[in-house]
Amino acid sequence: MAGDFDGLVAAVTGGSSGIGAAVVHALLEQGARVAVLDLDPESAPADTLAIRTDVADDASVRAAVHQVVAELGRLDVLVNNAGIGAQGTVADNDDAEWLRVLDINLLGMVRVSRAALPALRQSPAAVIVNTGSIAATAGLPQRALYTASKGAVLALTRAMAADHLSEGIRVNCVNPGTADTPWISRLLALADDPTAERAALEARQPHGRLVSADEVAGAVVYLASPRSGSTTGTAISVDGGMQDLRLRPRQ
Ligand code: NAD
Repeated sequence: MAGDFDGLVAAVTGGSSGIGAAVVHALLEQGARVAVLDLDPESAPADTLAIRTDVADDASVRAAVHQVVAELGRLDVLVNNAGIGAQGTVADNDDAEWLRVLDINLLGMVRVSRAALPALRQSPAAVIVNTGSIAATAGLPQRALYTASKGAVLALTRAMAADHLSEGIRVNCVNPGTADTPWISRLLALADDPTAERAALEARQPHGRLVSADEVAGAVVYLASPRSGSTTGTAISVDGGMQDLRLRPRQ
């Protein structure tokens, strides 16, 4: 069966776990050849080119993108998904932690995009999809640093879409609500009462449950598809209505 991504090559950062791994599976199903750029390449899904990459290290990123093009012959789809969390108010993290998180969540996307642009310019179906967050569009407590990083990702997405449209490169992002991934499992394991904490996270989303990684991947693949050639500079929320709905309390 023909897939939307037949003949195309995708690179997914953070593709070894959670949302990134779900994106990798979805792209493979639709015919793409996929490279996983991750700190943990051993955990990458099967049938991928897994390359140990630290998005916080420019030399590592350049080498990885070079390897993708050398081994797979081209690069059409870049999914900038690798990211880390941070907790606390604006007062709770020192400069070093602010710089560490921004270095991965924001500059990581800058580095990989910068390295990928020459190959993307050669593609007839070039696209970048960034993983943002509901934190970019809603004020969440105890998430000042993480929110700043994801707000910057949303703004960067628009700016890049404007810069690269004339080169035939689309740039979009997906803003997930709280998604059921190993990241959230780690967070819950740290809570005093993980069951109560999970229930609170589920209740925060109007549809009453966590978002699945596959649901986020569906939006990423939609944006990445050559069928979406008129969609650029936009963000899709995959958050069970958390951003835009105001419901009456459940009875
Ligand atoms: P995850 O922890 O399950 O997976 C993250 C992956 O990124 C891991 O494979 C990890 O090895 C990799 N990674 C981390 N730092 C890296 C680095 N410096 N270089 C290369 N790879 C690195 O997390 P997830 O929940 O799948 O999150 C993926 C993305 O989705 C992140 O950008 C996150 O901010 C975003 N997001 C997650 C949620 C959620 O609730 N899980 C909600 C909104 C947005």
